[in-house]
Amino acid sequence: MPPFRSATLSSSGTPDPAALLLWYDRHRRALPWRAAAGVRPDPYRVWLSEIMLQQTTVATVGPYFDRFVARWPDVSALAAASLDEILQLWQGLGYYARARNLHACARAVVERHDGRFPDDPAELRALPGIGLYSAGAIAAIAFDRRTAAIDGNVERVVARLYAVHEPLPEAKPRLRALAAALVPEERAGDFAQALMDLGATVCTPRRPRCVLCPWRVCCAAAAAGIADAIPARSEKPDRPSRYGVAFWLTRGDGAVLLRRRPEKGLLGGMTEIPSTPWRNEPWTLNQAIEIAPAATEWAPLPGTVRHGFTHFRLELAIIAGNGEADGMWSQVDRLDEHALPTLMKKVARHAVSALAR
Ligand code: SF4
Repeated sequence: MPPFRSATLSSSGTPDPAALLLWYDRHRRALPWRAAAGVRPDPYRVWLSEIMLQQTTVATVGPYFDRFVARWPDVSALAAASLDEILQLWQGLGYYARARNLHACARAVVERHDGRFPDDPAELRALPGIGLYSAGAIAAIAFDRRTAAIDGNVERVVARLYAVHEPLPEAKPRLRALAAALVPEERAGDFAQALMDLGATVCTPRRPRCVLCPWRVCCAAAAAGIADAIPARSEKPDRPSRYGVAFWLTRGDGAVLLRRRPEKGLLGGMTEIPSTPWRNEPWTLNQAIEIAPAATEWAPLPGTVRHGFTHFRLELAIIAGNGEADGMWSQVDRLDEHALPTLMKKVARHAVSALAR
């Protein structure tokens, strides 16, 4: 990418959207869900990509997006799929509430909007799984509505442009207002994507490449040489730890016991290896056995499985036994056919390897 030479300042000295759009026309990223220049974006693809990209990187989402649109090419097809099918294709993307909301949203679009996504941000927000940012992004990108799509990337760019020293998250309302004021009358969708691209490729969290930036001549942080230090963040308290015990119950034919988690809540609707509730203090073996799915001889396996959720860290011990119980059973080598979240795949790998020793 050559250094950008035609950055401009508007008469007010604020960043000129036209300079960013010109840069975007030359340097836009080719993304699987992005329409070619001049082609009207498909709202279904825009929505699907925005939901998948929540808390997930572009590189991770790419293959999932391709698989989803190959299998369900439009919102009606997705609405007709079962939740199990969707969860299965979603495996590995994490934050499974998104997959459940994806399904609910597709159905709502078909039932309430005749299979067409609304173009109004407020109506979009009324759909399952579409929050403030996603509504703005979909309205702007899919429908060219003059609305801001403000995520962490955009907050960073704007905080630097105006050298906002106030830390995040306290600075969010101010950054939101500053970002909204930048959106131009024309090409709002391209502008939203241009800001995303600028934050992802030039105004990166560390070592921003200001020499390539179309806004460098009007960037207060670059002028002051403090871009790396902005935005500041308030100190986060450490995530608390929770503890549980997973029950690896096998029966005579080698199958292992599974169960489905409740629809609502963490990992809702996913298949799991049964476990105790996850609580703030570790379990003793006797406490766990009291609520085990079968009355049999249980033996603890060496080691534990650790997993990080957004709001807490989980440490699961595993105890193994043989017996019968009501529930779903699966051969160990066919566990991939179930919608097991990453945590439960770790538990299965750990149990299999501990028992093989
Ligand atoms: S000049 Fe540097 S710090 Fe300022 S917006 Fe551009 S890349 Fe970010």
